[in-house]
Formats: sequence, C-alpha cells, structure tokens
Amino acid sequence: MSERSGIIDCHVHPTSAVGEGPARCAEEMLRYADRMGIEWLGTSLGPTFIHQPTAAEIEADNDFNAQLIALHPNRFFGYVNLNPNLLYHSLHELDERVADGPFVGIKLWVAMRCDHPNVDAICERAAELQAPILQHTFFRAGGNLGGESSPDDVAALASRHPEVIFIAAHTGLNWERGIRAVADQPNVFVDTCGFDPEMGFTEMAVKWLGAERVVYGSDASGRSFASQLAKVFGADISDGDRELILSGNMRRVLDL
Ligand SMILES: [Zn+2]
Repeated sequence: MSERSGIIDCHVHPTSAVGEGPARCAEEMLRYADRMGIEWLGTSLGPTFIHQPTAAEIEADNDFNAQLIALHPNRFFGYVNLNPNLLYHSLHELDERVADGPFVGIKLWVAMRCDHPNVDAICERAAELQAPILQHTFFRAGGNLGGESSPDDVAALASRHPEVIFIAAHTGLNWERGIRAVADQPNVFVDTCGFDPEMGFTEMAVKWLGAERVVYGSDASGRSFASQLAKVFGADISDGDRELILSGNMRRVLDL
C-alpha cells in the first residue's frame, strides 16, 4: 500500500478488448493506477458505451462493474448505470444494486436530458439512498446530442433536489462556462476530466466553487490518469485544497 497516496479517481470506465473479462480489465487499470498513486477508482458504464441502452444492456454494464468491485473491493467503487427512459427499470436497478449494494452512486450519461421529470423520480430515490449522481455534461460547440445534458440542466435539477450531491462530469467540456453555470448551486460539484489539460481550470473552479466542490476524475480509459492529474498537481492552489480535490471531498461524500 505504501506506493499509494490515497488518491480517489471519481470517474473511470472499464474498457476491455472483445472477449476480455473484468479480471483482465481490472489488472490493466490497476497497473497504471498504482503507478500514479491512485487508491480508489469510481467505475461506471462500459465496456460497450451504448447511448440508448436497453434494460439488458444496462444490466450487462452493471454486472461487469459489480464484478470489478467484487474482485477488488478495496480499489473499485461503482455508480449504477441507468437509462431514465426506462424509469421502472431504473428504480429497480437502484434498489437491487445501491440499496442492497455494492454500488454507492448513480451514473447518468446521454440517454435522456436530466431536465426530464423521470430524472426527478431517480433523484428522490437517490436522496433516500444518499447516493451521489455523476451526470455527464457537455456544452458541445455544435450543439448537444438529443439526450445530452449541460451544466445548466444539472444546476436546475440540483435546485429541486438540494439533499443530493451531483457531480457535473467534464465541467461541461467548455469549463469556463460550466463553472459559471453551476456556481450558485452548492450541491453541484465538478470533476476534472474529459477535456485537454489546459492551464487555469482548477484555479478557476476553486475560486468560483471552493475546493470542497471540485473532485479529481480521469475518465480513464478515455483519458489517461496522468494528463488529468496534471490539472490538479500543476495548479496554483494550496496543498490543503489539492488534498480535498484528490481525496478528501470524495471520502466525505462516500463516507469511505
Ligand atoms: Zn466518462
């Protein structure tokens, strides 16, 4: 354990060559996580990445991640993948996999914009389960996909569910706009992943949101651990703020 410094990566996805199972996937991810000092990896989606998954496809994803967690219960934690278009199924998956474990949070991707009332029903259950919601957010230059949420959508949703912690994944990609969009909503965090390691992101997020609302995530294997860690290690912020972003905030949210 000595090579690890307790970093929590709040946002990873299993990727695996066809036919390779969870054990091989975990081995590969942990090989690099160990090198970077990352202790915990928050996994969701994958390995197939389907925009509009069926109930069976959702369950296959969640089974894959449950197997990762079972293989390495002290390294992986999971967000249950849901398709809010399938509301009854979503609430059932929440009961099966979060209320009864092993998942601790919820992942919402691009199946449905999070301003839809179906997502409110999921948030009500998330509040009861104290499960944070990792919501993909983009401000796409050419316009978002039909089911894709923006940080504006997350801020509006979060204002209706103040007891739920939301993580606006990718800070909207256009992060200067994303940080401003969620700034007034205290239960919205932002993560560091999914855009290039540009200077100034972490400093602006800390200034506008406070370090307590910024969390390190890599989006590995879509991005490398190192390029996203660089945003935090290279930022002109205090060591205390850096510790919150790399570890302390997720430890508090998940009660690890
Ligand atoms: Zn992601």
